[in-house]
Amino acid sequence: MRLYNTATKQIEDFKPLNPPNVALYSCGPTVYDYTHIGHLRAYVNVDLLKRSLVYLDGFKVNHVMNITDVGHLTGDDDTGEDKLEKGAKKKGLDIWDLVKIYTDYFFSSLSALNIKKPNFNTANFKNYGALSGQKLNEKILGARENVHVDTKKKNPADFVLWFKAVGRFKNHIMCWPSPWGDGFPGWHIECSAISMKYLGETIDIHAGGVDHISVHHENEKAQSEAATGKPFVKYWFHSEFLMVDGRKMSKSLGNFYTIGDVKNKGFDPMALRLLYLQTHYRQTMNFTWDALEAADTAYKRLKNHILELKEKTGNKKADIVASKYKQEFRDELLNDLQTPKAVAILWEVVKADIEPDEKLALILNFDEILGLGLDEADVVKADIPEEIIKLTKEREVAREEKNFAKSDELRQKINEKGYEIKDTEEGYKITKR
Ligand code: AMP
Ligand code: ZN
Repeated sequence: MRLYNTATKQIEDFKPLNPPNVALYSCGPTVYDYTHIGHLRAYVNVDLLKRSLVYLDGFKVNHVMNITDVGHLTGDDDTGEDKLEKGAKKKGLDIWDLVKIYTDYFFSSLSALNIKKPNFNTANFKNYGALSGQKLNEKILGARENVHVDTKKKNPADFVLWFKAVGRFKNHIMCWPSPWGDGFPGWHIECSAISMKYLGETIDIHAGGVDHISVHHENEKAQSEAATGKPFVKYWFHSEFLMVDGRKMSKSLGNFYTIGDVKNKGFDPMALRLLYLQTHYRQTMNFTWDALEAADTAYKRLKNHILELKEKTGNKKADIVASKYKQEFRDELLNDLQTPKAVAILWEVVKADIEPDEKLALILNFDEILGLGLDEADVVKADIPEEIIKLTKEREVAREEKNFAKSDELRQKINEKGYEIKDTEEGYKITKR
């Protein structure tokens, strides 16, 4: 595998420290609002990296991710309020309830996109600038325009490891005792501490979005290396943004859509996954509903094609030891995860003049990495009208958002139309009453 490493700004051969094990850490979300499809692009890219390392190279990936529920302030330079406390106040919720709602929503969004979960769910200097290529004096220049002046910072690049529960944080709800006084950890410390505890002092890959390069990851690196005297991370993997109308999709700009929005518009979340894969992870991607609609049509075609192949072959797959398509697909992904090309090869196979059992085997083999859930395409469509399906999907979204009043209302509507919904361990079932 060859991977772009932000630390060297080069595509390098990927060599883990302790093969076949790979220690991978990815920064988790800050759970003060619904996860949006911008975040999800970053998580799909990590999922693709993980699947590629496992299926193409036979590595064993140990993946750890945090959930940030404290210490991430509205300003990354330690200014402003704690995002969680602000969110709880705004919504009039207890902070731990807020954390639960948005953490659950995050994980249900991951599963809607067939993203493999991390192995662990943790509930809870001199080289500064080397990662981002930012010079310290550039920071100083930037800081001059900044209104906020923290008199305790000797240097504008200084950052907080532990916030004391004094001054503006006197009434901070989340508060723990520590040798440095009562208070709470800074956002950056979380990732260093969790990464070291579960993966060791030096890890193979640390992943996140490009917005984390200049502050969060630079700070994680500085504090970790200062503490251990060892390199913190061998390869830094950064995913580019999902944009809307030329601007980063973000909670603060309010230009975001969730998996709930995707489902409410009648699209399959897997179509969104396909859409993501059509852009390389280091390219910005502009989101439009038209593009998602096109991906949804393409995804339906793919699924129908699989159904046909399954019928033709009796679901029998051929051995695919030597296939030029498999080799090409592999090569594209091994070359810094060229997913748009990998998807193009998938379509070539769909159109190729080869035996159906070989075709089926190839497509499902590719899908171990692409993760489009193509093998599940054999769900028999029950005789349920579109209108009822749409209502059940809306109800699913309401439940995920924990809007129980709305979900009850939708259940009632479904009942009135002569259908019944039963919630089971594996999901829900619709039956005619
Ligand atoms: P946050 O909750 O803000 O810490 O973000 C969680 C992850 O999503 C980080 O890795 C961010 O870099 C990433 N992220 C946030 N917004 C976007 C976006 N519009 N496109 C791609 N990744 C994003
Ligand atoms: Zn982090």
